[in-house]
Amino acid sequence: MTQVPSPAPALLIDRMVVGGDLVDARSGETFAVHNPADGSVITRLPAAEAADVDHAVKVAREAQRGWAKRSIATRSGLLRRWADLCQERVGDLAKIESLDVGKPIATARAVDGSMLMENMRYYAGMPDKLEGRTIPVSGRFVTMVVREPIGVVAGITPWNFALVGAAGKAISALAAGNSIVIKPSPLASLSALALAALALEAGIPPGMVNVVTDAASAAGEALVSHPGVGHISFTGSDAVGRKVAAAAGAELKTCTMELGGKSPLVVFDDADIKSAATSAFLGIFLNAGEMCTASSRLLVHRSVHDELLDAVTATAGGLVVGDPADESTVLGPVISAGHRDRVEGYVSAGRDEGARLVTGGTRPDLPGYYVTPTVFDDVEPTARIAREEIFGPVLSVMRFTDEDEALHIANDVTYGLGSGVFTSRLDRALRFADRIEAGNVWVNAYNLLHPAVPFGGYKDSGFGREGGFSGMSHFTREKSVWFATG
Ligand code: NAD
Repeated sequence: MTQVPSPAPALLIDRMVVGGDLVDARSGETFAVHNPADGSVITRLPAAEAADVDHAVKVAREAQRGWAKRSIATRSGLLRRWADLCQERVGDLAKIESLDVGKPIATARAVDGSMLMENMRYYAGMPDKLEGRTIPVSGRFVTMVVREPIGVVAGITPWNFALVGAAGKAISALAAGNSIVIKPSPLASLSALALAALALEAGIPPGMVNVVTDAASAAGEALVSHPGVGHISFTGSDAVGRKVAAAAGAELKTCTMELGGKSPLVVFDDADIKSAATSAFLGIFLNAGEMCTASSRLLVHRSVHDELLDAVTATAGGLVVGDPADESTVLGPVISAGHRDRVEGYVSAGRDEGARLVTGGTRPDLPGYYVTPTVFDDVEPTARIAREEIFGPVLSVMRFTDEDEALHIANDVTYGLGSGVFTSRLDRALRFADRIEAGNVWVNAYNLLHPAVPFGGYKDSGFGREGGFSGMSHFTREKSVWFATG
């Protein structure tokens, strides 16, 4: 039974946004959206299939042709207006995200709200910064290389940073002159719908920002293989990423893959341990560990191991776990009952493989899908909890003796997304940055992000970059024009 919270949160939209209209699926089918904090049904959303996607792509293509003809100043002005509306409504957007994803409301405002606004402001100013170039060539010729939009972008997003993920893809695609069809995760679609509604309110032409929702993967599959889509911007697991990249290959579309991770945070004996402990703690327990860059592996030099472990464990043990709507909550539920079972499965695997459970590993006596902050020590680098992405509040601690051993363990996984090193020695930090196989390296810090700085993975963490001009290059294609001058 649907239990829409009463009063319904502002900006809660329960139909798809396509071509400026709020629409149902053509089949009339819907699926339930659950609140991870208590399992109740927040609302129901349309379960789109291929016919709904086909319509969305067609209206997006039509809208994009008009958008490309508008002046840069007009486009940028509309994107700024969209950003302004997001700023005005950031509290409502944070509430929606907190309700849908189970994020503590204080985190949703401070972290997701800030990231949202950084992205919106940065990309709203992008249209007049996409320059072309000229290349000197021999003979009496002049060349001109221009960047053109691709057309319709498919934005496929996961549930963990649903609002920020959808916003970043949408505004950067539009800034480059494209339109977008967003297909959010079935577990967290509400913030993308709210964003699309705000785009319309800002005056962005109907059809430029469309959102189709699905119960599993029907709309996603139809979208990635639709001939009208020019580029796929995918964020999610490596398992689904492989399928999406294969579908893109079959249709000869470009794609970018922002996938999972098993990121190491490496602490040397010359580090500031207090600061390393804070980063290690936030790196795995913020957002209940549901972060692609979660520092899920803590590699510690033997001589500072006990001091660091005590500091991280003490903070983890004191965490306020509870209702995300409560302002004091630091750790909310994980996204679903199925995901909680998966995380608990890893806790059992950790025990079975001989790691020492230092804290957590239990299910709190709360109605939703909670997992207590969990720390395993003495984890073998070959153990599943040291190699596989858990995507929950579970930390695996390992010891090392020297730099070579630390780097070997750090690199000996299939992923390569984030990495952190804490050391007071510049030479060591530089060697680490040089030898680590990861797309992002933080020195004496962790998880710093900014829309101007390229972000992306090595190895199974994906390819392509989001952010800055690197990100914009995926949303545009180069055209080389030659002029004979005489
Ligand atoms: P997921 O791969 O299960 O789903 C991602 C999206 O793909 C969802 O919208 C889903 O409905 C859709 N999808 C599923 N099957 C599809 C198919 N066959 N064709 C097209 N679309 C399909 O991931 P998730 O569980 O939603 O999110 C968690 C994962 O996302 C983790 O692995 C996490 O590390 C990763 N992630 C990566 C980044 C990054 O920037 N690298 C950021 C956030 C999350």
